[in-house]
Amino acid sequence: MALTLITGGTVVGPTGRSRADVLLDGEQVAALVRPGDTTLGVDLASVAETVVDATGKYVIPGAVDPHTHMELPFGGTAASDTFETGTRAAAWGGTTTIVDFAVQRTGERVQDSLAAWFAKAEGSCAIDYGFHQILGGVDDDSLKAMDELVTEGITSFKLFMAYPGVFYSDDGQILRAMQKAATNGSMVMMHAENGIAIDVLVRQAIERGDTAPYFHGTTRPWETEEEATHRAIMLARLAGAPLYVVHMSAKQAVATLARARDDGWNVFGETCPQYLYLSLEEQLGARSEEWGDFEGAKWVCSTPLRSRAEGHQDELWRYLRTGDLSVVSTDHCPFCMKEQKELGLGDFSKIPNGIGGVEHRLDLVYQGVVDGKISLERWVELCCTTPARMFGLGDRKGVLTPGADADVVVYDPAGHTSIGYTSGADAAHGNRKTHHMNMDHSAWEGFEIDGHVDVVISRGKVLVSDGEYHGHPGHGQYLRRSTSAYLR
Ligand SMILES: [Zn+2]
Repeated sequence: MALTLITGGTVVGPTGRSRADVLLDGEQVAALVRPGDTTLGVDLASVAETVVDATGKYVIPGAVDPHTHMELPFGGTAASDTFETGTRAAAWGGTTTIVDFAVQRTGERVQDSLAAWFAKAEGSCAIDYGFHQILGGVDDDSLKAMDELVTEGITSFKLFMAYPGVFYSDDGQILRAMQKAATNGSMVMMHAENGIAIDVLVRQAIERGDTAPYFHGTTRPWETEEEATHRAIMLARLAGAPLYVVHMSAKQAVATLARARDDGWNVFGETCPQYLYLSLEEQLGARSEEWGDFEGAKWVCSTPLRSRAEGHQDELWRYLRTGDLSVVSTDHCPFCMKEQKELGLGDFSKIPNGIGGVEHRLDLVYQGVVDGKISLERWVELCCTTPARMFGLGDRKGVLTPGADADVVVYDPAGHTSIGYTSGADAAHGNRKTHHMNMDHSAWEGFEIDGHVDVVISRGKVLVSDGEYHGHPGHGQYLRRSTSAYLR
């Protein structure tokens, strides 16, 4: 098999860092070696087919994004990244594994919906991929399907307390699914917002004439997230099941989760870069020549952005530091402004919900290291190691240990990354896209990152180096997942 040697770098994992060379043998990590080690009697650099110079750089496991929505049908349209474009963009940003969501809509067989997702992803992905299953209708059939899917490597199921009439499950359905999860070892992931109350607030706002994108956020106040989070935790406790709350944005909701964790309950929380950096106030103030105050539609996502004056962003960083939040995912769900977000002109409730960011997570969370909010090790833990362990991929992904998949990122702390269309060196030339997602705008316009993804390797194959892309659709393989490493 072809040997690859990554020399001169600092290997960073969740428990520490060390100077080491990393030897890859084909698709797996073979060894970590002291720089210049001669005990094997071989000069590794001379026998390796490929040598990657990582001097002065960090060498970390390929990042694992456990929350993406490629081609998700939503609100009469579909997320603008296909598995092909979305996984290519992920690779550019140092993410070598995604776990996407297959969607069962009400009335559909779970197995049929999953087959449709396999068909979309197969042969299209640049990086490895797995699936969670969204249950849009909990009944006897779908409960039976949960057992079947677990044996096929789909070991997590997402339910919604929001979106009545679309994805919504009532408390009885949620409890039944959790009871099933408790018996088959799977994880229930929860979109925790009180959708019934939110729908009342949304209707009242529209009737008042409050139709701009900003009101998407004000009609999903923190109380609706905290209440649903609390209810989900209690139902999970009743069922004796673990719980993973997705895309948490309200500090009060995380405080409730943290209390349950302090009591020793098996509950976990995830947040996303948009909730760490962006705010409701910025959405309120967003204006452009092209879109007027509809500019704010770029940041319509659920849960919504929260108020900076109320301090949610700082609190979320704190919870990442203390371990009460376990994972940063992207909830990548991109929609263009043209023909997609603009469906909600004059009525924010018709704006497709979602932000694109699959390419930027490693950079954006790394900026938290630069800013002194989290440690280098915690960065790797949040973006690589814990997502893999949480969703049954920990033996292959998220670590650089012998036998693990040869997914590696060389990250340059002296490099620089400008995000968006008009930022950085290209600003003088006007509208120049600097990302690779299939979007006509960036939710991260103008963000400047003090770091850079230099080299990306997936199962031993170099996908990105020297600013060039060498990946191709179909390199990515389906990942049959085990159950979570955090079940007990
Ligand atoms: Zn999502």
